[in-house]
Amino acid sequence: MSDDRAHSTDTARAFTATVPGVARIGAGRELKRAVEGYWAGRIDAHALDQVATGIKRDSWNQLVQAGFDAVPVNTFSYYDQVLDTAVMLGALPPRTASVADPLDRYFAAARGTADIAPLEMTKWFDTNYHYLVPEIGPDTVFALDATKVLDEIGQARAQGVPARPVVIGPITFLALSKAVDGAAEPLSRIDDLLPLYVDLLGRLTQAGAEWVQIDEPTLVTDQASDLAALAERVYTALSAAPARPRILVQTYFGDAADRLGALARTDVEAVGVDLVAGSADSVRAAGLTGKHVVAGVVDGRNIWRTDLDRALETLRSLAPHVGSLAVSTSCSTLHVPYTVRGESELDAALASWLAFAEEKFAEVAALSRALIHGRDDQAGQFDAARAALATRATDPRLHVSAVRDRLAGLSPADWTRTPADVRRQAQDAALNLPVLPTTTIGSYPQTVEIRKARSALRNGTLDAEGYRCRMEREIAEVIALQEKVGLDVLVHGEPERNDMVQYFAEQLDGFFATANGWVQSYGSRCVRPPVLFGDVSRRAPMTVGWITYAQSLTNRPVKGMLTGPVTILAWSFVRDDQPIADTANQVGLAIRDETVDLERAGVPIIQVDEPALRELLPLRDTDRAAYLDWAVRSFRLATGGIADQTQIHTHLCYSEFGEVIGAIAGLDADVTSIEAARSHMEVLDDLNSAGFAAQVGPGVYDIHSPRIPSADEITESLREALGAVPADRLWVNPDCGLKTRRTDEVTAALKHMVAAAHRARAEVAQPVG
Ligand code: GLN
Ligand code: ZN
Repeated sequence: MSDDRAHSTDTARAFTATVPGVARIGAGRELKRAVEGYWAGRIDAHALDQVATGIKRDSWNQLVQAGFDAVPVNTFSYYDQVLDTAVMLGALPPRTASVADPLDRYFAAARGTADIAPLEMTKWFDTNYHYLVPEIGPDTVFALDATKVLDEIGQARAQGVPARPVVIGPITFLALSKAVDGAAEPLSRIDDLLPLYVDLLGRLTQAGAEWVQIDEPTLVTDQASDLAALAERVYTALSAAPARPRILVQTYFGDAADRLGALARTDVEAVGVDLVAGSADSVRAAGLTGKHVVAGVVDGRNIWRTDLDRALETLRSLAPHVGSLAVSTSCSTLHVPYTVRGESELDAALASWLAFAEEKFAEVAALSRALIHGRDDQAGQFDAARAALATRATDPRLHVSAVRDRLAGLSPADWTRTPADVRRQAQDAALNLPVLPTTTIGSYPQTVEIRKARSALRNGTLDAEGYRCRMEREIAEVIALQEKVGLDVLVHGEPERNDMVQYFAEQLDGFFATANGWVQSYGSRCVRPPVLFGDVSRRAPMTVGWITYAQSLTNRPVKGMLTGPVTILAWSFVRDDQPIADTANQVGLAIRDETVDLERAGVPIIQVDEPALRELLPLRDTDRAAYLDWAVRSFRLATGGIADQTQIHTHLCYSEFGEVIGAIAGLDADVTSIEAARSHMEVLDDLNSAGFAAQVGPGVYDIHSPRIPSADEITESLREALGAVPADRLWVNPDCGLKTRRTDEVTAALKHMVAAAHRARAEVAQPVG
């Protein structure tokens, strides 16, 4: 294009300090309360809007105050930014059209109604945030609705904020969508979307936007072939729009590698890169001398204070290779808590090592000023960072010699059990279970009673002894329920666990909990991940008392229940000062101590859950083998210290395993339960083709829905499973834990499941025909 604006990287108008986006749930989780209040009918749309307006205003102010000269807007969301994009592109599923009010239609797509199924939810790249998966049908006709982004620009500009609207780009939107009703692969619709984006760019220009940020995190993945060529084609087209703001194509969560070179060949003005997950070499190699580069040197996803000296070096090393530079976080601060202020129960050293969103804004601003005016201009900030890092490097809690010596002394024998068939014989003899044994995944309904007892314990109105009595009462009830419905392998029900990771983190050395470190998980749901900061070890048995109590109540075998190392890491903030494989092995050893103690206490079966195995999988194919290697090894370390006759179970969620299927076999568990109710046993075929030969329990019904499956249905799904796996390898179980269900639902469903197992056993014993 000939317009000189397309060639301009005139630094005078290029910003210097920003972030790709910010959290929107509110520092005190105001949005959570407001949205839930709206759903419950306690407040109206106007009141909800007021809360939203306040959150936007406060966060824009905060960024301006921090010294940012460009502020992302339209990163607010009532529920999810991908859903917002679906609305913007006219791609809500047709089944929601019956809801007249746009806000209610939006929430219907997110959460469903009595007669509208919600969109599916899945993880946002390799984070713990879940987005709603847009559905693209053969009849989906895209149409632009820019209301939300234009409104937010208007609000921000009225407030005098240097607003940079943010939208999800067309490549990422389609790559995250799924085809329904036989439609073609969503990315094949890219040319249908481009005119809408061109139109959008025009409207943003009219609204006074000087810049637009178009998020394309898909460019750091291998989710489609030839993403470099696609990026070049799409952004050549968009940068040729007749009227448009300057375009920043923002990548994050990884190294955009050759896709950066592709963007460099287009007429976009700026490219945003993640320099925590990605490398500065890629930026230097990409030919970005004509571009404004937004350098994400401050980690937007983890909570550690930045090494400002190192970050400044990185920035300076980029300067000769780019047109101009801005400093930023590596991604939106959606994934970290609001502020370290208020974490008053942490010791001073610990607190000084942390940077949540607010502290990261200050780091970005300091780096940006130091880049322009020299380090001395920001001496205070740099000195403080250096001092904190020095105490972190030498803190004894991060270098516990007992833990280190133990790791150094490991040998392959520590993660290798006897061959599976030998174990099988020992276990069959010890357990004496029927064919098609029935069991559950671990948790039973978390009743109001349980929650009350936990909060009473927390605020001191119930003492430890009283709490233990209440939990034992729950366990006794759950054991009785399981005996009544006739299950073969029982569990204690996990009443004492608020959360399957937090429960262990609280009892392990090397972790701490935050008071207010909430991050959005999905919609109005927030989690407070524990922080793994030091060397990890187990102080004392963590579950043995509960499990042996449960076992004392029944003659049937009770399964001990643990969370595996990969899942513990996945759902925590993890130290960044040593290789993650070492951290995983430390956690593996702590869990190993527990498996050994459970066995010693006479527990015949131990389940080590790894529902997060799939979600930590790296975004780039080339990184996957290394991940799976440490993931599998840490699990085997956790389970490798026990005798042949003790049966190890594992549980995995999500039925689309793809790349991890080989790793599942590598875990070498004796029994693997897998979510499969919704994928109609496809997972079994996948396991078979990967040569998986151990026992397996594909979930025979979906616990995520309150619907109670009939015995006929479950029998049918068992027959299907028996078509793929011989009876002597098949277990019968629901597809996940039961904690979100009600006791009456669970009782009825499990009765049907047991009845179905009995029918299937009869059929197996006496094949028809
Ligand atoms: N044992 C856990 C439970 O039943 C497993 C939960 C999970 O898969 N996320 O709740
Ligand atoms: Zn599960």
